[in-house]
Amino acid sequence: MIKPDRIVTTTCPYCGVGCNLQLHVKDEHIFKVTSPFDSPVNHGNLCVKGRFGYDYVYHPKRMTTPLVRRYLLEGKERPENREQRFEVVPANGQSVSNHLVSNLLDWVETDWDTALNFVADNLTRIYKRDGSDAMAVYACAKATNEDNYLLQKMYRAIFRTNNVDHCTRLCHAGSVVALQQATGSSAMSNTASQVIQNDVFIVTGSNTSENHPIIALQMKEAVRQHGAKMIVIDPRRIELVDFAEMWLPLKPGTNVPVFSAMAHVIVKEDLVNHEFISNRTEGFNEFIESLDKFTPEYAEEISGVPADDIRKAARMYATADKAAIYWGMGISQLSHGTASALALINLAFLTGHIGREGTGLNPLRGQNNVQGASDMGCMPFHYPGYMRVDNDENAAKWEKAWHIEAGGLSRKLGLTTTEILSHAHEGGIRALYIMGENPMMSEPNLNETRKHMQQLEFLVAQDIFMNESGAFADVFLPATPFAEKDGTFSNTDRRVQRVRAAHAPRGQARVDWQIICDLATRLESRLRVNTAKWDYSNPEEILREMGNVNSDYTGITYDRIDKVGLIYPVPTLDHPGTPTLFTESFPRGRGKFHPLDFVPVMEEPSDEYPFILTTGRVLEHWHGGSMTRNSVLNDAYPEARVDMNPADAEIHGIRNNDPVCVTSRRGEVILRVTVTEKTSVGVVFIPFHFAEAAANLLTNDALDPQAKIPEFKACAVQVFPARESDLPNPDAVLNRGRY
Ligand code: SF4
Repeated sequence: MIKPDRIVTTTCPYCGVGCNLQLHVKDEHIFKVTSPFDSPVNHGNLCVKGRFGYDYVYHPKRMTTPLVRRYLLEGKERPENREQRFEVVPANGQSVSNHLVSNLLDWVETDWDTALNFVADNLTRIYKRDGSDAMAVYACAKATNEDNYLLQKMYRAIFRTNNVDHCTRLCHAGSVVALQQATGSSAMSNTASQVIQNDVFIVTGSNTSENHPIIALQMKEAVRQHGAKMIVIDPRRIELVDFAEMWLPLKPGTNVPVFSAMAHVIVKEDLVNHEFISNRTEGFNEFIESLDKFTPEYAEEISGVPADDIRKAARMYATADKAAIYWGMGISQLSHGTASALALINLAFLTGHIGREGTGLNPLRGQNNVQGASDMGCMPFHYPGYMRVDNDENAAKWEKAWHIEAGGLSRKLGLTTTEILSHAHEGGIRALYIMGENPMMSEPNLNETRKHMQQLEFLVAQDIFMNESGAFADVFLPATPFAEKDGTFSNTDRRVQRVRAAHAPRGQARVDWQIICDLATRLESRLRVNTAKWDYSNPEEILREMGNVNSDYTGITYDRIDKVGLIYPVPTLDHPGTPTLFTESFPRGRGKFHPLDFVPVMEEPSDEYPFILTTGRVLEHWHGGSMTRNSVLNDAYPEARVDMNPADAEIHGIRNNDPVCVTSRRGEVILRVTVTEKTSVGVVFIPFHFAEAAANLLTNDALDPQAKIPEFKACAVQVFPARESDLPNPDAVLNRGRY
């Protein structure tokens, strides 16, 4: 048995559950991951990603040297098409980074000074010429709170722009906007571990077993050991259906009629909580008027869910002593994602299942630190702490904190991720800085995204791998993964936990916050301003600066979160944290009911495109695949597959494992089919992790008008047999999509 040199306790870099990890390190190399049994988040349990998915840290393709394009070094014009397509090649004893460089004729390895000077010179040039509206930045839901806070500070304090966003826009923006409108807060109201206190709970739009496996374990425990009743409302026959009292298999995009019909039943049968409604809410009368048309029969016609099942689910939820709702991106990733989340919030207000332990409204956040990146203000409408940027009082607080003249910060709402790219043209966004995100995998309608990426005048990629988006960059800055940095992540429970470095960065890679400070100092010197602080000696200093203004984090110190973290709001240094929100009131005062209408998805099936495509994750992989596809996890799930119901497969003459072509109005992919009852008749499912068959080549870029989240969960597609020889090479994971 190998004896570790040290065991470092940290937080998982994958999903929002935030499991505690123990990294066993020998000779500056992690060789094993375990978890402490006394962790309040995961009690020693880990899923396959947390347990085995760490080896990407040592993958030969890790980028560990800054890169600059040759045309920049030679002072030449940027070529028209700067996207570099390149093959993934075996390391053959030499670093693939070097191999890539020798094969990419116009990338040149360089030192940090040279790379950062090119970034500072070009960002300064564009800012001086075109002003704040030409500048934009993508923050990163995988990076720490400290990294994200500094990145948005650099863009707001130096470039005076709110064009700051990150992938929360692409996952839970609908939930965030709905919760803000109805309650004044935007996070989960209760903790996931409270599920064992539920009598009844609804899981909707969430394949929890694959996306949040440890929360799924707790849900199963609630059913098996504590007698809770689970209602699954989902188009797919997800694993949790085996444990559920009821499964309501609705058609994708028909959430509002189903949830509103449940509200209709609760009102009609007088199962409402009158005391809660009268003491804690507003807008009830207008709301119940809007429910008239949402009879269970009307909802059945639209959603396919039998009216009697809607009635039964409504009664179960309303009459429970403690009931909660857990939801995922099947609710929010729609062009009416905000309305879908509001329909769930209406149910909680009607029944008073909010503001107590074992109840609540719980959007399960996707990435490890998407909650934290949002808390840190990496959004175009909010400073850290969800303070609106168009409010003078809020702006004044951050002007003071960042030593900026009164009125200096922009009050103009910024652009969202998808808007930033669609504004990439003359007179719009000219320079984009991407920290750790991969829009060429995560944005909808990738063929269109590709055109936008080409339009950027200057692009910086700061990442650990050269990914599909980095291929468009002018400068590449090699950063560090979770195992090489200190800081904090905030999980889906609002629990702020420590991240600790297991060893030093590989090669010349640097931690993100230090790269940002170094760049910000260079920018200030070129722009002859000397305002905000950039000379931090450690990440805790950064978190304290943010917490001095954002009262949710004021009482959080690294000392206090050393062992098990703290659940914010933590307004003072002796506050114990707040696992359950809204016990007395809502941040906006009264909870607001929202009358809703049914708006169909933007693309209904047609003769030409008869299937609805829905997209999501699988257990073994994570997002654009940068980490998991460069890990042993890729051996367990090596290629993209499309799930199709057996009845559909038979009609189309398709057998399990056959190659098929899936086309939409925007693109096509070729991949193998899995014939499975998991997906309903008329619905196909493709995970979005695989560059060689990127699901987002097909998805629709129609946006929710309020949250600006794209409609990833429903678009119309056709599926037909393809030839074996048309299948893409699954080993070529970089830039091999058919675009
Ligand atoms: Fe990591 Fe999420 Fe798995 Fe926990 S459930 S080990 S946080 S990926």
